[in-house]
Amino acid sequence: MLEYKNLREEDSQIFDAVMEEARRQSNEIEMIASENYVSKAVLETMGTVLTNKYSEGYPTKRYYGGNQVIDKVEQLAIDRAKKLFNAEHVNVQPLSGSPANAAVYFSLLRPGDKVLGLRLDHGGHLSHGHPVNFSGILYSFSQYEVDSKTGKINMEKVREIALKEKPKMIVAGFSAYSREIEWQKFKEIADEVGAYTFADIAHTAGLIAAGEMANPTPIFDVIATTTHKTLRGPRGAIIMCKEEFASKIDKAVFPGMQGGPHDHINAAKAVAFKEALDPSFKDYAKQVIINAKILAQEFINSGYRVISGGTDNHLIVVDMTSKGVTGKEAEIILENVGISVSRSTIPNDPNPPMNPSGVRFGTPALTSRGMKEDEVKKIVAWINRAIENKADENKLKEIKEKVRDMCLKFSVPSL
Ligand SMILES: *Cc1c(COP(=O)(O)O)cnc(C)c1O
Repeated sequence: MLEYKNLREEDSQIFDAVMEEARRQSNEIEMIASENYVSKAVLETMGTVLTNKYSEGYPTKRYYGGNQVIDKVEQLAIDRAKKLFNAEHVNVQPLSGSPANAAVYFSLLRPGDKVLGLRLDHGGHLSHGHPVNFSGILYSFSQYEVDSKTGKINMEKVREIALKEKPKMIVAGFSAYSREIEWQKFKEIADEVGAYTFADIAHTAGLIAAGEMANPTPIFDVIATTTHKTLRGPRGAIIMCKEEFASKIDKAVFPGMQGGPHDHINAAKAVAFKEALDPSFKDYAKQVIINAKILAQEFINSGYRVISGGTDNHLIVVDMTSKGVTGKEAEIILENVGISVSRSTIPNDPNPPMNPSGVRFGTPALTSRGMKEDEVKKIVAWINRAIENKADENKLKEIKEKVRDMCLKFSVPSL
């Protein structure tokens, strides 16, 4: 193969920063539920000359010459995604999750149309109608909530709101919701009010692809997902849909929302889809869920309130105020012992979004390193000890060393 020029010689400042980040990722436990580690093959593909190409349009229908190779690459990505999710049509060009969602709305709605989505502070996503986001600015969203007692979505309530609001689209699929989603019930409600169904499976796509969670693709009109969360691919997104929406979706992505696709990233998506089609990916997804269930149980055993009392997927939201700290305080304490987490609102949070009551913990990344039940139990014990001894420098230092020792035994896949 041709040799690439060497970053170290070209730009030592960026090279050093990349190495510093590689060390950080190696030495810390990653529990941010939306993050993961890509394979060496995915990483390598992102750093190829495919980044040099312009290929506006779609395979065999491009607005630039020289796309014979790119056509093959994009078609492979499409075919593999179709197989992975049992989809009728796939567009692999969306640059990331939020732009993908913008394209979905753009394809089926007009500005001002009514849409129904889950509230951000109940586990939804900014792009599901939050007032600071384009979605909330351009479209008229009504929001459903999780039940204050069970922490789960009550489908009867969703139906009531849908009947009252008569939305043109219903959005399901969330960022901080740990339970299985009743896709079929959402579809029935949507049919009752004549709404499109849009599933945003950004978080759980890998678990769905592996067959470990219910797949909305055969049920819903349109499905979007990021490729970089549980799916373990490069940063980016894809949109899938029924054949009848194919041309609308494709037009909304290009020329509607975007210019040229990122061909090096789309190639890396194809590589990630190949990896996800391999039987070993099912074992991975199974272990992600087993680890998350243990995580929930260990937190409960240590006296924490876990929202909805457990999990069916890769994440949990924990109310940290049950141990006298806010989510932000917990995030900082844990960062100082080498455990990365993200603060999170809890349903009906009495605290403000910048300093909410909860922390969202996820298992996709640590499972990619090969960590299992025993490691998860140790990690929760360290987290609890760090929270309970937040002012004791010596204890915190001890925990940080233990975290580091464990990390040395479980290498990051590409490092
Ligand atoms: C992460 C996420 C997105 C956005 O993805 P970006 O790539 O960060 O834009 C959209 N929807 C949901 C449900 C998500 O969890």
